[in-house]
Amino acid sequence: MDSGPVDNHSVGGDVSLPFACRHEDGSGRADVVLKPRAIQCALSRICGVCATPLTRPIAFVGSSVEVSFAEFWFPPVHEACGQQLVDAGRASAMVLTAGFDLLRPSTRGAPVSFRANSVIEAAGTDPTQG
Ligand SMILES: [Zn+2]
Repeated sequence: MDSGPVDNHSVGGDVSLPFACRHEDGSGRADVVLKPRAIQCALSRICGVCATPLTRPIAFVGSSVEVSFAEFWFPPVHEACGQQLVDAGRASAMVLTAGFDLLRPSTRGAPVSFRANSVIEAAGTDPTQG
């Protein structure tokens, strides 16, 4: 599989409109993960922010609830890219993991999700907060 850029807009971590939220024409909404992109990230093992190949540890970002279940809507990202999403306020917590599973929906048209299957470290999950 070609490991080069997926499209003209795909390279460069841009947390204002991450790869996973960006259509090929560059449009999209930062709060809407595109299902084809999510699947592409999982199967090609590329970052949901910058679309370059993932390195370990793999990071997932989301709400504290997502972290507590180790299940996420946003595709896997680099640790640095995940930290940018947290810093930008687009996620409240991040976990580092050695691997993940793509969870395909049982209902046609429903979004896919991701399960971190061996969490190394969870950050942003202070039990005294919410
Ligand atoms: Zn990245």
